Amino acid sequence: MRRHNLAAVLDRLHISGEMSRSQLAEQTGLNRSTIRDLIAELTVLGLVAEGRGATTSGPGRPSSVARAKPSGAVVLAVELEVDSMAMATVGLGGHIFDKVRIANTGGPQQPSQAVARLAQLAGPLLDALPADHTFAGVGVAVAGVVRRQDGFVHVAPNLEWSNVPLADMIGAELGFDRVMMANEADLGALAEYRRGTNGGKRHLIFVAGEVGVGIGIIYDGKPMLGTAGYAGEAGHTKINPEGRECRCGATGCWETEVGEEALARLSGFSADSARAGLIDEVLRRAHSGDPEIYNALGQIGRWLGVGIGNLINTFNPDLVVIGGFFQELYPFLEQALLDSAQETALTAPWLSCSIRRSELGIDSSLIGASELVLAEVIASPGEFATSIRRVASGTGKDLLAGRPASGP
Ligand SMILES: [Zn+2]
Repeated sequence: MRRHNLAAVLDRLHISGEMSRSQLAEQTGLNRSTIRDLIAELTVLGLVAEGRGATTSGPGRPSSVARAKPSGAVVLAVELEVDSMAMATVGLGGHIFDKVRIANTGGPQQPSQAVARLAQLAGPLLDALPADHTFAGVGVAVAGVVRRQDGFVHVAPNLEWSNVPLADMIGAELGFDRVMMANEADLGALAEYRRGTNGGKRHLIFVAGEVGVGIGIIYDGKPMLGTAGYAGEAGHTKINPEGRECRCGATGCWETEVGEEALARLSGFSADSARAGLIDEVLRRAHSGDPEIYNALGQIGRWLGVGIGNLINTFNPDLVVIGGFFQELYPFLEQALLDSAQETALTAPWLSCSIRRSELGIDSSLIGASELVLAEVIASPGEFATSIRRVASGTGKDLLAGRPASGP
């Protein structure tokens, strides 16, 4: 019970920012003396700090507020895409210490190359963390079919990877024990649900376009992952039987009509240009009123709407969030998307659903990767602190052992 209450208070502070004891009591349903004790315990664990708030609670007396302490649990969040790699150090409360995103211009990399690159990028970010930080682990978002319990990538068609023990490889390269991994669209959905402005919606579908297309589903506030965790491969549902061959081997998959390669093809670029600079160039030409680009984005928008209409009929969500490059191009996709989604969806589920552009932008999956690890810390704050103390006293594996040196 006590662990449950600790988690409830830490979760409120992590999501909502600073709160007074009475606000916490109101939101958790716990009484104020219990809240006081829980805050004291979380403070001793180094996860929460109390201080003066901006508002006053009585005549001239500034109220004391509690807030999550970012350095109390820090995650190295990683997003591995076909055409980019992104990384951030994220603390409790969603505080971003540092963030970096680089383009991969040379096409898909071997897993070992990607892991070496990841380690190079991670060094300076980890070195820049405050000296008093507590490291909670690595969270990784991958564009592929991922087994969550051990971070094994079964297949990532667009990265051209199959059967890669990626979490083990990253853990060995960085010298960290705790590497958690999940599909990027699932993590995008998690981030939109936890940190986006979902307005209290509990049935959410996140649709992300990259080279491939994936969706993440939140059902009644919980991730819907399927029996083995592989749900959401909507990019490989058949949408156009007369369509093109897909990288997965099937024909007419949704992503062959709306993925980056379709965008490149329809916009008159070579397939290779899907790797670098495509979205910027399409945006530039769209803003200048280029009719070829308008036509291309109209087609992408229509096929996107057909797929989203099917999802609305199947899942009856109250919110569909548009992410990835669809989010970057959204103003030019919106009308065709909404028209064809409405045409595809039945009236009742259509009327109970809103479609919205992601406010987290291209970082949804990266933020979701940090939430994946922080959720474990929040669920068991005491156990987290104990495991860190065990490491610090030398009875556990050194969290920092073997970490690559940063520098030129
Ligand atoms: Zn496919």
